[in-house]
Amino acid sequence: MKALCWHGKKDVRCETVPDPRIEEPCDAIVKVTSCAICGSDLHLFDGFMPGMMEGDILGHEFMGEVVEVGPGNKKLKVGDRVVVPFTICCGECDQCRRGNWSVCERSNRNKSLAEKVFGHTTAGLFGYTHLTGGYPGGQAEYVRVPYADVAPVKVPAGLTDEQVLFLGDILPTGWQAAVQCEIEPADTVAVWGAGPVGQFAVRSALMLGARQVVAIDRLPDRLSMAAACGALTINFEEESVLERLAELTGGKGPEKCIDAVGLEAHVPRSLDSLYDRAKQALMWESDRAHVLREMIYACRPAGILSIPGVYGGVVDKIPFGAVMNKGLTIRTGQTHVNRWAEDLLRRIEEDQIDPSFVVTHTVGLEDGPQMYETFRDKHDGCIKVVMKPGVSSRATFDERPRS
Ligand code: NAD
Ligand code: ZN
Ligand code: ZN
Repeated sequence: MKALCWHGKKDVRCETVPDPRIEEPCDAIVKVTSCAICGSDLHLFDGFMPGMMEGDILGHEFMGEVVEVGPGNKKLKVGDRVVVPFTICCGECDQCRRGNWSVCERSNRNKSLAEKVFGHTTAGLFGYTHLTGGYPGGQAEYVRVPYADVAPVKVPAGLTDEQVLFLGDILPTGWQAAVQCEIEPADTVAVWGAGPVGQFAVRSALMLGARQVVAIDRLPDRLSMAAACGALTINFEEESVLERLAELTGGKGPEKCIDAVGLEAHVPRSLDSLYDRAKQALMWESDRAHVLREMIYACRPAGILSIPGVYGGVVDKIPFGAVMNKGLTIRTGQTHVNRWAEDLLRRIEEDQIDPSFVVTHTVGLEDGPQMYETFRDKHDGCIKVVMKPGVSSRATFDERPRS
C-alpha cells in the first residue's frame, strides 16, 4: 500500500510499504477514505519531537471503512464507517474507566520509555513517535487499529467525510480547550493561534456562552475565518497583544486564555523569542514558550490557562511567580477524544456545527509531502489539508473549486 513515511527533519515521502495485518484479537483494519495533516504532525516534520524512526508511517487524524476485524472484536464489523480517535485506548484500565482516555495506562507499547521521560506512561498514539508506542499512522491506504472495539466512533452514512473526520482530533481538541476554561457568561476568552485547533476553540468558546472571544494570530486569512463566526481579532504583527487585550477587557485582562499554538510559537521581533530560538537550536531548551509567557502575563488574576498546544520537553523562563501570585489554574493535555466524541457527533448531526469549514486543500496521498510544506509555511491560504488515499490527486481534485 501507499503511505506517508517520515525520513528525518523536513523529509516526508509517499512510499510503498507492506499492508498492515491483524495482530491482536480486538484489532481492525481500516481502509482510509480521508486523513488530514495536523499541527502536531508539523512538530514531527520540523524535528522538534524526539522518538521518530526512519520509515515511520505518519498520521493520526483519519477515518474510513472497516475491511477486516479480529475474532475478539464484538463492536465492529466489515463495512462499518468509522472515525478513529488519535488516542489508542484499552477501555479497561483505571484511567480509561475515569474517562482520561489520553493517559490510558496500557495502550503504549513503549511504556518504560514514556515513564523515563514523563514519570508515567501516556496512551499509545497513531503515527506519533516511539514514546507513544511507535504505532503506524493513518496517512496511508490502510491502517491497523489496535483495541478497535474501544475508541473508534461509528458514523452515519448521511454525513460527508469532511463533516466527521475532525471528530478524531482537532474538533474535540478545540472543544476540550474551551470546556476546560469553565466559561461563564461574562467571560472574555482569548485564543492564541487561529490554526485549525484555534478555529474550533473559538467556535466552542462561543457555543459555550462566552461574552467575547478574541483570536490572536498574524495570518489574515486565519483571522478572517475566526471573525466570520463573531470573534474579535488581534494581528500580533500589527498591534500589541497585551495592550489590545487590556482595551477589550476594561484594563483587566481576559478571564480565560487558550494556547492553540504550542512549541513552535512565532514572534519575530520579541526578545524572548530570540532567546528561545537560540536555546532551541543549541538543544538547551526543547520548546519555545513565548505564548505561555504572554498568556500568564495577560490573564486576569484567578483566571484559567487552557493549553491544548503541544509541548514535548523542557521550557524555561516561565514566570511561575505570576502564576502563583495571580492564582491561575493551568489545564492541559492531549485530548480525551472519547469523552467528547458522541456529544460532538450529535451536534454535527443537528447542524450546530459543521467542521468542514476549515478545509482549504483536498489532495491525494502522493501530494502529501508537498502539502506538509504548504501547511507548515501557511502558503496558498492553507488552513487544513485533507488527503484521500487511493485517489489520484491530479485526476480528481485539481479542477475542484476550493471550499
Ligand atoms: P497550526 O500550526 O496550523 O496553527 C498554529 C497557529 O498559531 C498558526 O496559525 C500560527 O500563525 C499561530 N501562531 C504562531 N505563533 C503565534 C503567537 N506567538 N501568537 C499567536 N498565534 C501564533 O496548528 P494547529 O493544527 O492549529 O495546532 C495547534 C497546536 O495544537 C499544535 O501545537 C498542535 O500540536 C496542538 N494540538 C494538540 C492536540 C491535543 O490533543 N492537545 C490535538 C491537536 C493539535
Ligand atoms: Zn493532532
Ligand atoms: Zn486504558
